[in-house]
Amino acid sequence: MRTLKSITRRGFVTAGAAITTAPAFAISRNDTPALLGGTPAHPGRFPVWPVFDRREEQALGETLRSRKWLRVNGQNVNRFEQAYAQVFGAKGCLATSNGTSALMLSLKALGVCPGDEVIVPPYTFIATINAVMMLYALPVFVDTDRETFQMDPRKIEAAITDRTAAILPVHLGGSAADLDSILAIAERRHLPVVEDACQAHLGEWRNRKLGTYGATGCFSFQATKNMACGEGGALITDDLALLEKCFAIHSHGRARTISGYDFTYRTAGANLRMDEFHAALASTQLSRLPHQSETREQNAAYLTKLLHDIPGILPARMYGGCTRNAWHLFMLRYQPEAFAGLSRSAFLKALAAEGVVASSGYSPLNLEPFLKNTFAGRDFQSLFSKERLARWEERNSCPENDKLCLEAVWLTHNMLLGTRTDMEQIAAAFRKIQMHAAQLLKA
Ligand SMILES: *Cc1c(COP(=O)(O)O)cnc(C)c1O
Repeated sequence: MRTLKSITRRGFVTAGAAITTAPAFAISRNDTPALLGGTPAHPGRFPVWPVFDRREEQALGETLRSRKWLRVNGQNVNRFEQAYAQVFGAKGCLATSNGTSALMLSLKALGVCPGDEVIVPPYTFIATINAVMMLYALPVFVDTDRETFQMDPRKIEAAITDRTAAILPVHLGGSAADLDSILAIAERRHLPVVEDACQAHLGEWRNRKLGTYGATGCFSFQATKNMACGEGGALITDDLALLEKCFAIHSHGRARTISGYDFTYRTAGANLRMDEFHAALASTQLSRLPHQSETREQNAAYLTKLLHDIPGILPARMYGGCTRNAWHLFMLRYQPEAFAGLSRSAFLKALAAEGVVASSGYSPLNLEPFLKNTFAGRDFQSLFSKERLARWEERNSCPENDKLCLEAVWLTHNMLLGTRTDMEQIAAAFRKIQMHAAQLLKA
């Protein structure tokens, strides 16, 4: 720590001199976009992610020395599952190898079969779609509500057919999909809902955790997510019979009993287990999550306020039922019209020069070639008639999502773990670029 004593006399004098000369310099230079030679609005260092300290090192070291590296021998995974279920308010939790396997297990245990259809949003990470396609089911895309970045609930019903087997909404960016509408449709059409909450740890809908509304809620602890253990995942559910079904499928088709493991094989299964090391990490990271979530929430609220009156910057709206956003992403729409016609890519470049590296987000997944490549395979060809695939293509249109993909800008959750000053500097960067947009256009 830096104390008064550690500042040498010489350093003190220099610091004093800097203070007297700084303002004039700061005003003239700070006002100029960094891309045009000005001083960046932000120093460029946001909190690093993931975070750890001695607690993680100790937990991993203990597991190593115990030689109990599998959940079959140790207690880390069991303990983690109990803690996770408790924190999220669910009856049960199954830890998995990753979020994708939690989604696949859920869909499979709920009876999604080859040849079925699953309702999905196009604005998501590809794993949502892959979980469906790895089960030889057809992802049916429902257009995005551009204001919220979530699946548009007004367009779900029209996408349901007699082959629909499940609805798979994503709580994108940590905000919530419109669960009231989705659950009402699901009930009316007798369809199970699997919540993809891989970006939404501790997010809430009507004061209850995201992930507790569907038949299952699926989470990812992949290193870039809001809770990280390297690769890892979990599903939570109140349906304990479903939980045991998932358990068996995730561990070679073997069920478990109250007293431990039942080594008879009940069904076909894979190995999608979490191991004791990842559970040790996940447990310590879970204990950090509440505090980190509060920091993200406070900073996101402050940043939203700071951006409020900047024309052409439209932060994603939250549905009224979303009582808590997990803020995996701070998502907004950028409108070039308000920036003298400066393109999004030029805006992102200017922003990066200001020390704020932002992303342009997802491209339209429903238009990606991997879909048709997959449908051309012998497996899909034998399950789906030419007519069905042609009909899928006819209906595969998400015009609002196409527009959103051209205007989205994301800031990442580690930025929201910074200070209020970080938020002020982000907003200052936006303003500076807007003020000099015409000049930047020529640069
Ligand atoms: C990360 C993510 C997944 C997949 O999680 P993995 O742990 O990487 O398998 C699924 N859906 C969404 C929305 C995600 O962001």
